[in-house]
Amino acid sequence: FDDRDGTIWMDGKLVPWRDAKLHVLTHGLHYASGVFEGERVYGGEIFKLTEHTERLHKSADILGFKIPFSVEEIDAACNELIRDNGIVDGYVRPIAWRGSEMMGVSAQNNTIHLAIAAWEWPAYFSPEARMAGLKMRISDWARPDPKTAPVISKAAGLYMICTLSKHKAEAEGYHDALMLDWRGYVAEATGANIFFLMEDGKLHTPKPDCFLDGITRRTVKALAEKMGYEVVERHIMPEEMAKASEAFLTGTAVEVTPVASIGDYHFNPGRTCESLMKAYDEEVRRGSDKAALISGSAA
Ligand code: PMP
Repeated sequence: FDDRDGTIWMDGKLVPWRDAKLHVLTHGLHYASGVFEGERVYGGEIFKLTEHTERLHKSADILGFKIPFSVEEIDAACNELIRDNGIVDGYVRPIAWRGSEMMGVSAQNNTIHLAIAAWEWPAYFSPEARMAGLKMRISDWARPDPKTAPVISKAAGLYMICTLSKHKAEAEGYHDALMLDWRGYVAEATGANIFFLMEDGKLHTPKPDCFLDGITRRTVKALAEKMGYEVVERHIMPEEMAKASEAFLTGTAVEVTPVASIGDYHFNPGRTCESLMKAYDEEVRRGSDKAALISGSAA
């Protein structure tokens, strides 16, 4: 992914993609002292940009460092970057990390760096293909107790268990894994949150007390409520998945993606998945449609 044309925003300026490098003694590499974001561009507009940038700042605060650029400056940098690279439907990845001045667990005086990359990334599954649903397994790794790790930060270090879970799932022919938490409750997928349509006709989703409360999760919850669904946030035991007729993941990358099975539990992606996929699709395109309408009427 490092050998391509384009630019990357690094510590305040745009550099050629191939030159966006750092030193091998970077603290972020050795001790995972990095935080990042994942954002989507729809029709040339970054969806919920400021919410993502604020979460980036918060993630860094939780890890005890301050990003040397304000939320406004980072928002402007993301926008400058997608314009410079001509991205219309794509993905944006900001990342902040502790630099390489001190080598050791302690890195109090290391420079905090920020880089942002973006690339064209249109949705490659048609809604029909997505409706087939993902096949998932239950991970052997559990989301840790908030006393064990800074679980609500989007911290690079926490992705160790996500990659382990995802690799094992892929090696066994599954698309993804569901992680339970340290108490045994259903938590989240390796890069997305989860919802179930239960037999009471309500949507149930795990209470985000030891994993990321996704921006997509919050968006979909609000959309579902607007459509008349009651959304219940609570602790869900894995056996309760037997009572769910539909299940779906939510996340910036996966958007709303139906789940066909998790281990021995099977679901039937149906009307609820379909209508929320459609509602989410309309929601993310609203900003860019508005922009197109305004520029169209001005022309
Ligand atoms: N959980 C994890 C572990 C993730 O990596 C993501 C993706 N950022 C999510 C949940 C969903 O978060 P969001 O909707 O903000 O993308």
